[in-house]
Amino acid sequence: MTDDAMTGPSASDSRLPLPGTPGGNASGVQARLQRERDEAAEQLTALAQAMEALRTVREASPDDDEHDPEGPTLSSEWSQLRGLEIAAVARLADADAAFERLEQGRYGVCLSCGRPIAPGRLEVRPAAALCVECAARAS
Ligand SMILES: [Zn+2]
Repeated sequence: MTDDAMTGPSASDSRLPLPGTPGGNASGVQARLQRERDEAAEQLTALAQAMEALRTVREASPDDDEHDPEGPTLSSEWSQLRGLEIAAVARLADADAAFERLEQGRYGVCLSCGRPIAPGRLEVRPAAALCVECAARAS
């Protein structure tokens, strides 16, 4: 699952011819999305390193969970990292999906109700696929 994410970042840097977005500042949107995607990719890389480090610590520590106070700590740290990793993968996928919508001229339109997503929301969450109302309903 991490393999996909790891091969992504450098390959897609220059893949986008700039589409015209109706009524929008396409290059600003694209820059924001690119940044969002880069951040998610960086986050994934950092997480992979943290998980690798944690795995090393785990393997180095004696297999003695009952008397090892680090045991539970390590596994809760691990599940925390896993949770963050899943979120980062989703963030990356959201950014990719938003790029696709941008290419197709459907960026900034709610996938659920078809109404425009508020510009303020897109500034905060450039990869947002749902308007505020639909996102609230979905969560
Ligand atoms: Zn909606």
